[in-house]
Amino acid sequence: MLIVPEAAIADLITPEASFDAVEAVFAAMSKRDAYNFPVVREAIGHEDALYGFKGGFDQSGMTLGLKAGGYWPNNLERRGIINHQSTVFLFAPDTGKMAAMVGGNLLTALRTAAASSVSIKHLARPDAKVLGMVGAGHQSHFQLRAAAQQRDFDKVVAWNYHPDMLPKLGETAAELGLPFEAVSLEGLGEQADVIITITSAFSPSLMDAHVKPGTHLACMGTDTIGKQEVEAALLARATVFCDEVAQSTTIGEAQHAVGSGLIDISAVNEIGAVINGTHPGRTSNDEITLFDGTGVGLQDLAVASAVVEIAVEKGVAIEVDF
Ligand code: NAD
Repeated sequence: MLIVPEAAIADLITPEASFDAVEAVFAAMSKRDAYNFPVVREAIGHEDALYGFKGGFDQSGMTLGLKAGGYWPNNLERRGIINHQSTVFLFAPDTGKMAAMVGGNLLTALRTAAASSVSIKHLARPDAKVLGMVGAGHQSHFQLRAAAQQRDFDKVVAWNYHPDMLPKLGETAAELGLPFEAVSLEGLGEQADVIITITSAFSPSLMDAHVKPGTHLACMGTDTIGKQEVEAALLARATVFCDEVAQSTTIGEAQHAVGSGLIDISAVNEIGAVINGTHPGRTSNDEITLFDGTGVGLQDLAVASAVVEIAVEKGVAIEVDF
């Protein structure tokens, strides 16, 4: 088997390779060539940790495996390591033999950013100029970098619940050569053509009235029962897309709109269908499109598999008899 350690990942995978891997697996999911296994997520009663598994099988990409890991809230403070910890395990689909073990921390951020970036490519207006960011935590920097590749943005506007975190996001915008402005939620909605929400909120920040016609939203923070970033009424006004309908309507942003009867499950569309051309995607300049990205195991397997390929090419994969 091959090992690709966490420390090697940054020099191997590019945002472009992550994008291609995630776009391909969303397409495969929609063709029913790939499916995710039920997610296991447990509060283990130790260190306040949440631990679980996300797995799946992609028959077109021949990727089988799982990501194991979760969230240890005390890591950073007590041990100086990041709170999210995960590892991807890949198995040979023909034999079940262990094929590779890959560090999953950086990959999680890259595959999450790739997902919203895929949605921007396929759903945002081609002439989108202003990118709005709601959230300024760890993931937001990856989100901003990936989004900037998809449209010719000329400005970033941002709002965060903790305003002191915004200057750091401004530094990332500056690295990309983009002017950055901290704004109110009203100002953000007025200006932004594309909005990414990436917070850990349990009640909505961005309201329906904030968002102007024609906006594309990528709601990326809600991945658990009870979390919510945007008002449910916004989903009723938008055409809603997601990575996987089952996750979106149970642990994603759509859980609230579906749960309160504002939209039917049938109104939640797979982004893979747009990629495959079986759903038209955006059909007018005034339409609001909203991508509910909950994060599926197949995304992790897709980027991990891409990393293994690059690591082998570059001769940095560690081979172990197992
Ligand atoms: P982080 O802890 O670094 O940042 C949290 C962000 O949420 C900050 O911007 C913070 O100011 C904001 N926030 C906190 N409380 C808030 C509140 N009450 N209202 C509004 N905003 C609030 O976390 P992160 O690593 O950037 O992750 C952000 C979210 O993305 C988390 O919910 C995480 O679970 C989720 N996530 C989703 C995926 C996916 O695939 N969809 C992948 C990774 C992480």
